[in-house]
Amino acid sequence: MAHGDDQPGYWIGVELGVGRIRATVYSAAFGARGTAKHSTKAQRGAEAVMARAARCVRDAADEADLPLGSIRGVGVAVPGTVEADTGRVTSAPGLGWRLTSLKEALEGLLGLPVFVENEGAAAALAAQAVEFDSKPRRLLGLFAGASVSGGWIEDGQPRDRGEIAHMMVASDGPHCCCGAVGCLDAVAGFPAILAQVAAAARDGGRTMLTDLVGANLKDARKGDLRKAFRAGDRLVISALEDAAGFLGLAAARLIAKLRPDLLVLGGALAEVMGERLKAIVEQVLKNRLPAGTGGEVTLAVSALGDDAAVIGAAVLAARQGTAKPALLTGS
Ligand SMILES: [Zn+2]
Repeated sequence: MAHGDDQPGYWIGVELGVGRIRATVYSAAFGARGTAKHSTKAQRGAEAVMARAARCVRDAADEADLPLGSIRGVGVAVPGTVEADTGRVTSAPGLGWRLTSLKEALEGLLGLPVFVENEGAAAALAAQAVEFDSKPRRLLGLFAGASVSGGWIEDGQPRDRGEIAHMMVASDGPHCCCGAVGCLDAVAGFPAILAQVAAAARDGGRTMLTDLVGANLKDARKGDLRKAFRAGDRLVISALEDAAGFLGLAAARLIAKLRPDLLVLGGALAEVMGERLKAIVEQVLKNRLPAGTGGEVTLAVSALGDDAAVIGAAVLAARQGTAKPALLTGS
C-alpha cells in the first residue's frame, strides 16, 4: 500500500470488548461513515471471536457503502496487554486469551494491515489526537464503564500497554477477572457499582434502579444509572462516588510517577457523572499529592464517551498505515 502520502482514505476502528465487538469506518478527518456491532461470544474461543471481528469489519465497510479494498488499515482495541510491534495479545483475562496472535489472524482473514492496541491506550490516544488536537505532550487517560482501562500517551505515542486496569487500589477488594484482588477494574467498573447498590438494597435500602430494571440490578445500564444519579438516588450516588474515589486513588499514584500535563476522565462513568466525577478525583488528588508532586495537573472530562477506544484504534491504523518514521517515533 501507499506510504507517507496525504491521500484521503478510510480506516476502520474496532473495539473488541468482552461482551460486544464494534467496528466503525472513519474518513481521514475521523468523521464516522458506517458502523456495525456483533456480540463477542468469548466462550467460543479466540478463533471464533477473531472470525466474528473480521465479519464485523466487513459489515462496517458494507454499511459505509465501501468495498473492503478501499480501507487502508484496521486498528483494534482490546481489553488486555498487547505487544505493539507483533500485534499479539499477551493477556486478556476477560476474553480468556493468552498469547493470541490477533494481528496475524485478522490480516489473514481480511487482507488488510491490522494494528492492535490496549483499549485504554487507544482511548487515551483518541483524546490526545482528536479531542485535544495533539496538543498535550503527556496525557494520562482513565476510562471507566463496563470495565476500567487507562492509557499513557507521551509525545503522541501510547506508552502503557494495558497494565493500568490491574493496578491494585483496594487490598480488601473483590476478586478481579485477572486472578488478583482489588484491581482498579474490579472496584470502579459498572459491575462493582451495581453490586454495591444491590448489597445496600438487600440490607433494606431503597433505590429507583429496582423500579427501572426489576430485582436483578445487574441488568441496569448507563441510562438507568444516569437517571438514578440525576434523581438523587442515594444508594446509586454513593456507589458512583466510591468508584470515582478509586479512580482518584489510581490517578494520584500514576500522576506522582508519570507527571502528566493533562488527566482525561472518560467512558460511561464520565457520561453518567460528568463534572461530579472530575470534582471527586480533584479532591482525592488534593488530599494525596502534596504541593509540587503533580497535584496541579489539569483535569478534563472527555466528550468522546463510549466511542473513545474505537476512534483511537482508527487513529492508530491511520498513523501506522501511512507510516513515516517520524510519526512512529512521535517527533
Ligand atoms: Zn485485575
